[in-house]
Amino acid sequence: MSELVITDLHATVGDKEILKGVSLTIRSGEVHAVMGPNGSGKSTLSHVITGKPGYTVTKGSVTLDGVELLDLPAWERAKAGIFLAMQYPTEVPGVSLQSMLFASAIEAGRDADEVKAGIAAEAERIGFDEALITRPLNVDLSGGEKKRNETVQLGVLAPKFAILDEIDSGLDVDAMKAVTRRVEDLTNQDEPLGVLAITHYKRLFEELEPDHVHVFAAGVIQKSGGPELAEELEQTGYAEWVHLVEKDDGFAAFHDPSGNTTFAEDLHLHEG
Ligand code: ADP
Ligand code: MG
Repeated sequence: MSELVITDLHATVGDKEILKGVSLTIRSGEVHAVMGPNGSGKSTLSHVITGKPGYTVTKGSVTLDGVELLDLPAWERAKAGIFLAMQYPTEVPGVSLQSMLFASAIEAGRDADEVKAGIAAEAERIGFDEALITRPLNVDLSGGEKKRNETVQLGVLAPKFAILDEIDSGLDVDAMKAVTRRVEDLTNQDEPLGVLAITHYKRLFEELEPDHVHVFAAGVIQKSGGPELAEELEQTGYAEWVHLVEKDDGFAAFHDPSGNTTFAEDLHLHEG
């Protein structure tokens, strides 16, 4: 059993504090859902845990089985067993999914043939086109293909913990089912995966069963509960927390950094 422990995490971008004291413990096999309005700091949380450059941690800690991750570069955090399925997967011209996974596998002392078979099996399982395995990573892929690509990586790399940042965005109903079923299976295997799943939509949890649901707004967890909380949010939206986010960041709360969604749209949780 492994444990990912986030304690009173504060982080800034430039001189703006985005994370304002996040505490959360995730154990192997547990699924924690994080739901909240755009601009509240959910992706920032995923980036700070996994070590994306550009953020300054001003207070707190993130440990994996007692090892302080914040002291490690991103690649060592990955090697320790943390995986991030990015909200906006990066295009990497010149490097294929296969060569990226081979490089990781060899670093981890795994056999290349076993990894190759693993990639094919994972791709088939979730309907990821095999032709894309040897093409440049994420280049010219559709939104849905990028998310399936992330899921293939997750299945092959077999981390201890996965952070899924809106893995459902861009997926059609069938792909969503395949991807979330795969993740659910990973949480039930012999060495079960622990999951932090960031999403706006309860539909992510038709196959993937959350043990805990957290409302995240204005840089902190505002409320925690069981699966019924996801149900409740589907009905009410984040109306209860809008004021907090507004007071806190003004316009930023209404503006997604991707530039194409507004917080107002998020309130219509039945759409999409
Ligand atoms: P969420 O994922 O909840 O929508 P984000 O973590 O992407 O929120 O963003 C939280 C806030 O931090 C937003 O106001 C966003 O504009 C700001 N932010 C995030 N990354 C950066 C950055 N690299 N530079 C400046 N501001 C940023
Ligand atoms: Mg985000």
